[in-house]
Amino acid sequence: MIQLYIPLNFLGVIYREIKQSLADLDRMFVFMDREREVDDAPDAVPLQLATCPAVRFEDVHFAYDPARPILRGVSFEIPAGKTVAVVGPSGSGKSTLARLLFRFYDVQQGRIAIAGQDIRSLTQASLRQAIGIVPQDTVLFNDTVEYNIAYGRAGASHDEVVAAAQAARIHDFIAGTPQGYATRVGERGLKLSGGEKQRVAIARTLLKNPPILIFDEATSALDSANERAIQAELQSAARNKTTLLIAHRLSTVVDAHEILVLDAGQILERGTHAQLLALGGRYAEMWSLQQSQAVGDEALA
Ligand code: ATP
Repeated sequence: MIQLYIPLNFLGVIYREIKQSLADLDRMFVFMDREREVDDAPDAVPLQLATCPAVRFEDVHFAYDPARPILRGVSFEIPAGKTVAVVGPSGSGKSTLARLLFRFYDVQQGRIAIAGQDIRSLTQASLRQAIGIVPQDTVLFNDTVEYNIAYGRAGASHDEVVAAAQAARIHDFIAGTPQGYATRVGERGLKLSGGEKQRVAIARTLLKNPPILIFDEATSALDSANERAIQAELQSAARNKTTLLIAHRLSTVVDAHEILVLDAGQILERGTHAQLLALGGRYAEMWSLQQSQAVGDEALA
């Protein structure tokens, strides 16, 4: 019994870390039944999707610890095929929105609906099939680049893997390594930079081709060339997908259908980039701060 307990406990720790970093390792759930915070309702049904769906958060309240509310009445809609970006200070609850949409936790008040269907009424398997996550810190397996990308969809062909890598702009880099797609990555293989890892994650997600995308932008500082590259990859990944973009760099949110400024679990400001600049509030302040930092960085480069 003790022998069994230790590995399960260990898996539990890994699971919690994965859940926190939003890594896309859905298969872990097979082992993790004991650790689930949410269960399928007895009458759960598969998500029904005819086309790309709209996603709605309706008066969502949530706390990890009842004594400390994290989201306090958040409402917004991501229309079908559009991108809604969330910005705000560290700890304001941005990643929590993504965790709730993937249903790592259930809302405590209000609801989240996809194509009008409350996600609590759906099977988790169908929900997670419909959502692709590009996490901040991508977990790569100690295996080949090919395996790491193909993980997005069981049975994908080599040509499909290459097409996804091309769309995520990581193909040239892979093709330039001596063993190409057979190159091993991870701890015992080729070390990839944060940006390269995120591109592998984008390729994996493109291969999965889900109608809904959660993009949790890496917080790490990027030079402006890399920042422009990630922005282009993000745009190709989000095309025709209903996308929730958790953003740390305002340059990536400029084209979003709507930008939400989250502060202490509430939406402080909302609108397009132009509307928020015209408002002259918190977003405008953040924008001018990041612009002056960018100018400073270019001068140092
Ligand atoms: P960042 O920009 O730093 O990624 P964020 O806006 O995405 O921050 P969240 O990750 O949503 O913030 O966290 C919101 C708050 O909830 C933080 O104060 C965080 O410490 C707390 N929190 C996050 N995960 C848990 C957890 N599993 N248990 C308890 N508190 C948590």
